[in-house]
Amino acid sequence: MQRRKSRPVRLGAVTVGGDAPVSVQSMTNTDTCDVVATRAQIGRLVEAGCEIIRVAVPDQRAARALPDIMRGLEVPLVADIHFDYRLALAAIDAGVDGLRINPGNIGSRDKVVAVVQAARQKNVPIRIGVNAGSLEKDLLREGVTPEALVQSALRHVSILEELGFYEIKISLKASDVPLMLTAYHMLADKVDYPFHIGVTEAGTLFAGSIKSAVGIGALLWEGLGDTVRVSLTGDPVQEVRAAYEILKALGLRRRGAELISCPTCGRTRIDLVRIASEVEQRLAAIKQPLKVAVMGCVVNGPGEARHADVGIAGGIGEGLIFRKGQVIRKVQESLLVEELMKEIDHIIQGRNGD
Ligand code: SF4
Repeated sequence: MQRRKSRPVRLGAVTVGGDAPVSVQSMTNTDTCDVVATRAQIGRLVEAGCEIIRVAVPDQRAARALPDIMRGLEVPLVADIHFDYRLALAAIDAGVDGLRINPGNIGSRDKVVAVVQAARQKNVPIRIGVNAGSLEKDLLREGVTPEALVQSALRHVSILEELGFYEIKISLKASDVPLMLTAYHMLADKVDYPFHIGVTEAGTLFAGSIKSAVGIGALLWEGLGDTVRVSLTGDPVQEVRAAYEILKALGLRRRGAELISCPTCGRTRIDLVRIASEVEQRLAAIKQPLKVAVMGCVVNGPGEARHADVGIAGGIGEGLIFRKGQVIRKVQESLLVEELMKEIDHIIQGRNGD
């Protein structure tokens, strides 16, 4: 896969664009003023592998909470601001690593200049976040089109460029997948700023993950996209998990275990659905890359999953444990999950040289 050449932009210790790996980000959905709840959610997001955290800053109280939220934080924090330049200044002052604000929505030129100067002084990049749901009225003559999304982004870009500011990332989000795909394609020919990609308002866990995988996956496969946010209605930790699944499926990132499990068929004689779901839950704690297979039958299982590091294949009341397609032992069905987890421990310890 040939990735689009984008200009690298730094957010604290994380580089977005250039040769940097595609990073995973998410946004808290706690009340930003509730420092305890927000820090707890950020902790869970970081544990799940989130590399950039965004928080909404809707008012000055939220801006005042930022220093406490950021205390000891290991990943960059981005303040999401709509319209109010004073909130942008307060967030920069509080030490955030990035801003999401559209310069065309800030108001008079002196306000834009104030934000850009402060951002430049503190090396804070700005993400221009164009959303199909909030395009400028004069761009909507033909309705919400890819051209309108691109036009809107270029307007915001030119405001920043006129002030000599180039630490820019861009997103062009829509809940309509073909619309956003076309828009990113069009913009890719016009600028070299890194792209934050995602399908906005994608939906709940099931439908939203699929829609995001189609939209984000299609862009990534064509080399577009430098940082990813999956938007789901629900726990943002699921967004991070979904993002890694997309990146792993395309071979762009390796993090945590990848579960391969067969769909089951008339040959299955064990409760594979329960076993697969139990294994999936237990694998969530593993951060090292590992392919684990849960297959329904011994006839096809080990062979079909020979690329897996380790796996199980069901028989009648028992099953096989295999590594790289080679059977290593037979165990009772009731012990299959435990034995599989032991084998995984051995692999991880072996890799760690223990
Ligand atoms: Fe059926 Fe075996 Fe294939 Fe699973 S691995 S779908 S049980 S043939």
